Order: sequence, then structure tokens, then C-alpha cells
Amino acid sequence: LLSSDGAVAPTIFAEMSAAAARTGAINLGQGFPDEDGPAEVLEAARAAIANGANQYPPGRGIPDLLAAISEHQQRFYGLQVDPEREIIVTAGATEALTATLLALIDGPDDEVVVFEPYYDSYAAAAALAGATLRTVPLRAPDFQPDLDQLAATVTDRTRIILINDPHNPTGAVFRTEVLAEIVRLANQHDAIIVTDEVYEHLAFRAPHTPIATLPGAAARTLTISSAGKTFSATGWKIGWVHGPADLITAVLTIKQYLTYVNGSPFQPAITVGLRLDDSFFDGASAALARKHELLGAGLRAAGFGVIAPEGGYFTVADATPVGGADAAAFCRALPDRVGVVAIPLTAFVSEARRDEYSGLIRFAACKRVEVLEEAVSRLAVLG
Ligand code: PMP
Ligand code: GLN
Repeated sequence: LLSSDGAVAPTIFAEMSAAAARTGAINLGQGFPDEDGPAEVLEAARAAIANGANQYPPGRGIPDLLAAISEHQQRFYGLQVDPEREIIVTAGATEALTATLLALIDGPDDEVVVFEPYYDSYAAAAALAGATLRTVPLRAPDFQPDLDQLAATVTDRTRIILINDPHNPTGAVFRTEVLAEIVRLANQHDAIIVTDEVYEHLAFRAPHTPIATLPGAAARTLTISSAGKTFSATGWKIGWVHGPADLITAVLTIKQYLTYVNGSPFQPAITVGLRLDDSFFDGASAALARKHELLGAGLRAAGFGVIAPEGGYFTVADATPVGGADAAAFCRALPDRVGVVAIPLTAFVSEARRDEYSGLIRFAACKRVEVLEEAVSRLAVLG
């Protein structure tokens, strides 16, 4: 996890956001919105601070938030989750993921199967836990896994199958037959499914399907989500994980020594957010879908090949037609060249597979319309 000179290697997000700050370029790299979320949620955080919610909250999270998460899973997905035993609140999805891997992995004989490209913290968390990482590639244009390859990768050594749906960075939403095969393999090999669903309310084609709702899944699935994307509050770092009580107890055992507890004034605010009516949730995904369309049209006009996303913050584009066959070099030059920051897909891929993704770039669409319009007008000079 350290760079070769022993310094802390910055994440790709820190590096690209620093490039944006240095050059004044528009930052379509790191995925964070440039507008605040719902006013009721912001107001609830202010009120919580004013009302003294400023000390350690309970270790599992405040009872109101646990109840709101349970209600949310029932309301949107029909999932029954016991708020007292089957949920804990974490410092974002990131801590939920890391604590889960630290809790469930015994050592290098335990394997974690992930789809590649993957969100960067997955490989780091697996390394911290001492697990052996096995990857299954997702290939353009639909970024669905090959089911034979998946079946060949999951074995009795697999402790965890870690999925992310909707998927960062590709924008894919897994087909039902993919989810069903993951559940089948997990049961066959007695593996635990860990599912990162932080973009659950940002699926464009159809409502999100949590893998935990499939037959045979719930008893071996830990579902992770976060308020960051749903409520445009990525800096608040309120996440959660729910699943069978024994697994949640194991995750809590680790979480209590990582951060102990987190975000006391934000917990009541997210409680308010999770109880907003359907129009809020529908409006957020519709607005983001329109932004993807604007960005995609602009990228196409500039000469990129665009892969329309099915969910999440990001659009993937093929830069080969505009001279970006080496997308990493292309992205490094882009801030100075046209004033836009974006991230090459190779940043989300293990060393061995970099060549397969070398022309692809991830652009964040979660920005104000006028910012996206300015970005695509800058990119137009490439065409
Ligand atoms: N998982 C995925 C797929 C993400 O894109 C992100 C990004 N922010 C996270 C986890 C981290 O979520 P949080 O900020 O809640 O830790
Ligand atoms: N999830 C966001 C992204 O993929 C931000 C992640 C981060 O800054 N660690 O861009």
C-alpha cells in the first residue's frame, strides 16, 4: 500500500483532484456532486448540532437511524431487517467494506472474488485483511461478467464474493442471471456475498434489485450502502451494513476499534433523508440520468465512443478515436490541454489487466448542468 519510496501513495482521486486544483480544470474525476442535497436533510443536521447531538452516539448507530434503514429496506425492496441486531452504522461504505473484510478474512488462504475494474478501496481492504484477491473481468460494452469465468474463479477457497451494483466505474447494472449465478456459487462453495450498493437510488433503466432479495441470498449476504450518493453528502461519511446478526456482530467487533462511532449530528439528518417521500428518490435518479445524456452527447460530438451507463455517477468513454489509446497519458495531459480532469479506467484495474482497459476513461456526471456544458464545450476541441 506504500509507494516504492515508502511515502504514502495518494489515491487516484486525491491525485486527480489536486490536478484540478492546480490547473483550474473542471473536475470530472473524483465522484462528488457540486450541489447540496435536500434542504430538509441539511436543516436536520444543523438542528441536531444545535440540540446537542455532538457526543459519541451508540456503537451500532442511533436507534432512529437504525429504524429508518430497516424501514427503507422494507419500503423499497421488501427486505425484513431487524434494526437492533442486523444493522450497524459505519463511517461511510468505505469503513463498512474494510471492517467486513477484516472481520471475515482469516489469512491468505481466504480468497475474495471481485469484479474488475473495481473501486480502489476493495483491493486495499483485501490487502489490509491479508486476503488473496481473485478478479473476474467486466468487459465493454455491457460490462457483465462471463458466467463460466465467474464459476471457474469461485471455489471452496472463496470466503467472500464482493460485488458493486450499480457499478463504479463502469456504470453497469448486473443482469438478474448474473446475480442469480453469484447466489448459486456462494451457496455451492459456502461463501459470503458482500454487496456495495451505494448507487442504489441512481439506477436508470429499472429500479435497483438488491442481491439480498434473491432466493437463497439473505442468509449469507452483507449489504452495504451509504448516504453519500443518495443525499449528495459524500463528506458526511454515514454508511451502514446489514445482514445476519452473527456476521454483523463480527463487523461491529472490528468497527469499534477502527472509529468506535461516527457522525453523531449526521445520523439524525440521514434518518430524515431516508424517510423522504418517493418523489425525492425518483427525482434524483431522473436528474442524474439527464446529466449523463448531456455528457454522453457532448463526448460523442467530441469524437469519443460512449458507453451509456445504467446507473451511478459515471460515464465510460473510449478515447481511442480522439488519440487517447493510452488513456492514462491522455488523462494526465487533459487538464493542461483542455481544462478537464477525468480518470483512466486503468486506475481501477490490477496490473495484469491494464492493457485490456487502456483506451477507456471515466467521466463523473454528478455536476451542475452548466458545469457539464462547459466541460463538453472544452472537450469539443479534441474532435
Ligand atoms: N463504494 C463505491 C462503489 C463508491 O463509488 C464509493 C465512493 N465514494 C464508496 C464505496 C465509498 O463510499 P463512502 O463515501 O460512503 O465511504
Ligand atoms: N467514489 C468516488 C469516486 O469513485 C470518490 C472516492 C474517493 O474519493 N475515495 O470517484
